[in-house]
Amino acid sequence: MGPIYVGSEIYRNSTYGKNHPLAVPRVSSTTDLCRALGWLSEANFVSAPLATEAEVGRFHDPGYIAALKRAEESQAVSDEDRARFHIGAFNNPVYPEIFRRPMISAGGILLAARLTRDGGIVYAPGGGTHHGRPDRAAGFCYLNDPVLGMLAWLDQGLARIAYVDIDAHHGDGVQDAFAGDPRVLTISVHEAGRWPHSGAADDRAGGSARNFPVPAGFNDSEMRALLEGAILPLLRAHAPQAVFLQCGADALEEDPLSRLALSNNAHWAVVAALRDLAPRLIVTGGGGYNPWTVARCWAGVWATLNGFDIPARLPPAAEAVLRGLRFNRAAGRNPPDHWVTTLRDAPREGMVRAEIHALLEAGL
Ligand SMILES: [Zn+2]
Repeated sequence: MGPIYVGSEIYRNSTYGKNHPLAVPRVSSTTDLCRALGWLSEANFVSAPLATEAEVGRFHDPGYIAALKRAEESQAVSDEDRARFHIGAFNNPVYPEIFRRPMISAGGILLAARLTRDGGIVYAPGGGTHHGRPDRAAGFCYLNDPVLGMLAWLDQGLARIAYVDIDAHHGDGVQDAFAGDPRVLTISVHEAGRWPHSGAADDRAGGSARNFPVPAGFNDSEMRALLEGAILPLLRAHAPQAVFLQCGADALEEDPLSRLALSNNAHWAVVAALRDLAPRLIVTGGGGYNPWTVARCWAGVWATLNGFDIPARLPPAAEAVLRGLRFNRAAGRNPPDHWVTTLRDAPREGMVRAEIHALLEAGL
């Protein structure tokens, strides 16, 4: 069986509010782009089911799950819930699907864990909410679907799992969930000095984590150096039975929330390198706040997992998907031609700086 794409219509027209970075479409545009390119069919597309409260309770506090449900029903939050669960505060707004959307993202990842029980590849661009905490929202994340997915793998009897996170922000919620657990190796590449300000190079979470806080301007050559010099050797040494890759698109140059400078080629190279490293692979999205950058990157992730050719110039139906996107920021007023006519960025190679060499030494 080939790779499976787990999507959902819950993401279409769902936003965190017009002034929030998650005002932009991401999963719906990625899915539409893949469809326009002929890359999805009844054979490889599955709609994510809603997770049950019992399933999500494997990691999350029942009181917190109930608070999310209350917030969706009432579209409001009490002072007590706001203080205790960080919803309706700290950039984690009450929005129309505040309960169902995270529950479907979690349901998609739990389905992915079931689909890969005996091996296989699942791509769920709606997953990757790596900041979610057992009892509170954090960093736009309400539930932590990577943690739930990997707990499901462990519950199936797997003993060695690797988590790789190339989002611009440290995968703190996942690292902390498995801190000190020798079964799960968590590796995070993220921008140094950025929220949540954890994930220093010497932070190993009791041996289960490796962190690569990279400097502003981080380029494709530097990502390749980290991949070949640290991430792949660490993964080979851990010999995982399953790999979970969080593929946030906010480390790409055009993203408004980071100062990193990758092209989407860097993301696709990581996907290609990890694809056959273990018998089981789940790939998710994550951050990503420029609608063109996200859709182009994440559609290319699906192509990479399948070995589909990425056309140099998009066919009209795919171009129309990208031309239909709107972005309430300066960059959205006049999107450059290549954002709507191509999928692949020009490579952004550069010098591998001393900071990267230092990270390579510290990481191994
Ligand atoms: Zn991020």
